Amino acid sequence: MTHNVLLLPGDGIGPEIAAQAARLLDACQKAGLDISVEEALVGGSAYDAHGVPLPDATLEKARKASAILLGAVGGPKWDKIDDLSKRPEKGLLGLRKNLGLFGNLRPAMLYPQLASASSLKPELVAGLDIMIVRELTGGIYFGQPRGIEERNGERVGFNTYVYSESEIERIGRVAFEMAQKRGKKLCSVDKANVLEVTILWREVMERLAPEYPDVELSHMYVDNAAMQLVRAPKQFDVVVTGNMFGDILSDAAAMLTGSIGMLPSASLNETGQGMYEPCHGSAPDIAGQNIANPLAMMLSVAMMLRYSLNETAMAERIEAAVGRVLDDGLRTADIASPGMQTVSTVEMGDAVLAAFAQG
Ligand code: NAD
Repeated sequence: MTHNVLLLPGDGIGPEIAAQAARLLDACQKAGLDISVEEALVGGSAYDAHGVPLPDATLEKARKASAILLGAVGGPKWDKIDDLSKRPEKGLLGLRKNLGLFGNLRPAMLYPQLASASSLKPELVAGLDIMIVRELTGGIYFGQPRGIEERNGERVGFNTYVYSESEIERIGRVAFEMAQKRGKKLCSVDKANVLEVTILWREVMERLAPEYPDVELSHMYVDNAAMQLVRAPKQFDVVVTGNMFGDILSDAAAMLTGSIGMLPSASLNETGQGMYEPCHGSAPDIAGQNIANPLAMMLSVAMMLRYSLNETAMAERIEAAVGRVLDDGLRTADIASPGMQTVSTVEMGDAVLAAFAQG
């Protein structure tokens, strides 16, 4: 079956790093992968061309795609658009909502060659490989009622932290299955000592556990998880948590790796269709200079092959190619130690392709 991939370069450094992903997909095709790639506009570039950040044609192509690869959206050029619904970021949110992308996979992986880039001691982080599974479409960010209103003569702000059993179960299953594909350890993060919603969360995770007997399930309160992430991060394999806790913990975990230019991410829906993108934004400060690190984007291709297209061998070949390039000492400016020579976006792309071609 041909995999139909939709490539959405987006804005800022998006098109520069997407170009390297496109070359990599081309190389995968030459290496035997049955794949077709189509491009479309999203974000500010779509607004400039069509007056909206998510044109109908793009959404239609996204619905039909086996998987979506996104560069990044946004930039100062579009920050002055008064109508918030037309801002570039709304293109991304529209894709998440329309495709029902409820499961956010945020790996925090540190290549041993880059251990000195972390703010933690190298021995604490060398070889770090955590996958945070964050629920993306529910929880306190979306719960009703919410608002700011007058009560007893003063203003009160309120939000609702709500999860249904079915919402917890579907993200739980994503996490258990992820743990089965990795180190078979799953840590569910909650605040069950204080919040009823997370008492239910814990109960549902416990109920699912017997269906995945090969996975060792543990529970941790979110405050302790934050502490453990900076104290001994290598104890974690897969972490599953709700939207808000996941938002915070995944950013902290990403920073342990020292470079946001290295980290891919994914958002999956119930059919396994996914949108894959680097964790970083459109980096307008370096856009157009051919100095952005394309590796998060190229590793997003690997993640897509592994989790949506079930092409594990090809994914491993890409990850191994990136590892070899780092072994050879190639660094873009964001991951270079002081005094190291740096390469451009295209040169880094060239090197990964050359390593990939060697198999
Ligand atoms: P950012 O991630 O774009 O940039 C933060 C810093 O990291 C900058 O100094 C940037 O130069 C650097 N950086 C990021 N990616 C890099 C790469 N691949 N190689 C080298 N350096 C890299 O975050 P920001 O500055 O807060 O946001 C810039 C724009 O991106 C905003 O418009 C924001 O809304 C948007 N944004 C988009 C997404 C997305 O598309 N998923 C995510 C976050 C931010």
